[in-house]
Amino acid sequence: MSKMKKLIALVAVCALMMLTLAGCGGSSSSGSGSGAASGEKVLKVGATVDFAPFEFQDESQKEYQGFDMDLIRAIGKEMGYTVEIQNIGFDGLIPALQAKNIDVIISGMTITDERKQNVLFSDPYYQSGLTMVVRDNETAIQKFQDLKGHKVAVQIGTTSAAEVKKIEGVEVKELNTPADCFMELKANGVDAVVNDRPVNDYYITKTGATGVKALPERLTAEDYGIAIGKDNTEMQKKVNDALKKLKENGEYDKIYAKWFGDQMK
Ligand code: GLN
Repeated sequence: MSKMKKLIALVAVCALMMLTLAGCGGSSSSGSGSGAASGEKVLKVGATVDFAPFEFQDESQKEYQGFDMDLIRAIGKEMGYTVEIQNIGFDGLIPALQAKNIDVIISGMTITDERKQNVLFSDPYYQSGLTMVVRDNETAIQKFQDLKGHKVAVQIGTTSAAEVKKIEGVEVKELNTPADCFMELKANGVDAVVNDRPVNDYYITKTGATGVKALPERLTAEDYGIAIGKDNTEMQKKVNDALKKLKENGEYDKIYAKWFGDQMK
């Protein structure tokens, strides 16, 4: 090879390497949500995708479904971010946020003082609370106070788990998902499931569950919030501004009506 040809080859190799490196740098979108290869800002969202109608998988659809999923996509769009949703176990969500693996959590997560020690919350976006599901033929359990002396299933790391532990004389079984709790109830492994009211109602009315019923008493009133890293007040403001906008422009109401019909807000 002539000297000239060698030089050209060397320059070409260098140029290729630089392009590759630039490509790598561009695609490593960081916790700040900046710069995928296409220059998009990415909002990394954590959710426990097993909580219909807030977040769930529908076999016939590629994307995660539910009220929270639609809401966070609308919030991301309003903020100018592309939303990427990761499915993470409920007790792993706050640790993932603290490790900056995700930017926000939307997962039917109740705003509590305890959680506020570790995360920031957006303004409330949904009012919820806890109810009970029992077997159809259950007569002994009608109110929360009747749970004394019974076995109760709850999802691990939730407000249900915390509240049921406060009721004296209850044997609490902490399972990974509400679906596991309902299965345990049907298999007679427990006598009741305590869980968020809209999720219980959806399970009974929309999934055609048989042999079980939801009881009317509400143990708590709880507000759901979007959780954000403790030091990320900038993100908190962006999320709150977007949420406010969606409430003003009717987009929030549309998403609400899609999942809850004309139920009271
Ligand atoms: N709202 C409950 C909580 O925050 C349950 C949330 C959930 O299971 N996704 O603890």
